[in-house]
Amino acid sequence: EALMARGLPKKQPLPGVANIVVVASGKGGVGKSTVAVNLAVSLANIGKRVGLLDGDIFGPSIPLMMNVHEEPLVDDKNLIIPPVNYGVKCLSMGMLTQHGDAVIWRGPLVMSALQRLLKGALWGPLDVLIVDTPPGTGDVHLSLAQNVPISGVLLVSTPQTAALEVTQRGAQMYKTLGIPIFGLAENMGHAICGNCQHKLEIFKNTTQKFTKDMNIELLATIPLDGNITDCCDNGIPMVLKYKDSEYAKSFKSLALNI
Ligand code: ADP
Repeated sequence: EALMARGLPKKQPLPGVANIVVVASGKGGVGKSTVAVNLAVSLANIGKRVGLLDGDIFGPSIPLMMNVHEEPLVDDKNLIIPPVNYGVKCLSMGMLTQHGDAVIWRGPLVMSALQRLLKGALWGPLDVLIVDTPPGTGDVHLSLAQNVPISGVLLVSTPQTAALEVTQRGAQMYKTLGIPIFGLAENMGHAICGNCQHKLEIFKNTTQKFTKDMNIELLATIPLDGNITDCCDNGIPMVLKYKDSEYAKSFKSLALNI
């Protein structure tokens, strides 16, 4: 810890950005980007000025989910102008590479790409910049934590022990770095029957033990729902398509709590 602290460069706030919120998960495929997108749009819906940075350089999914594919323009100072959709300024490596092309880079290049998207872009004025991170606790997380002030982290996990254990490691890393954890959004832990509205618990409830052991607040429980998959695949955030749904309500309260 002491070693890490000594090597830390001074954190610089991003010009005009009041808060940076990191969305993180231990494993991939648990719905981290889905949560990041719907949180960003919910924040915009309650009148916040919001940006969404896709920090997943290798597996960007924000362009698809937010339906922003165009290559961003730059201003006369060579700062990237993030395109806006659904009231959210978005930036992703996926907008800078040909659709479907793989990014084949080593760590240092990934870090400079992240720096460019973070510091070489016209984000401000923003109330909140949401950063969707790659799964795990790698370079991107450390680099973010060292370079910019982070207001807090929203963890996303499914309720299996395998996913929660890795999430716990991530939580521990942020705690060690002195970054607050807002809480956990549980995803795909239950489903609602389309016929009788019965709530089907898909997994044994391991989330409660996790939140209790880690002293972390459970901020949302999002059901497994084919409509959510469709929304992601079609680039329409579910909180917009299903405005009156339970999950739109829970994202609204998440937005109000962050
Ligand atoms: P991650 O960012 O953790 O890798 P994603 O948000 O990309 O995960 O989600 C992975 C896949 O699961 C996507 O295809 C998405 O549409 C789907 N998905 C996420 N959450 C749900 C949900 N609650 N119900 C149904 N499908 C979901």
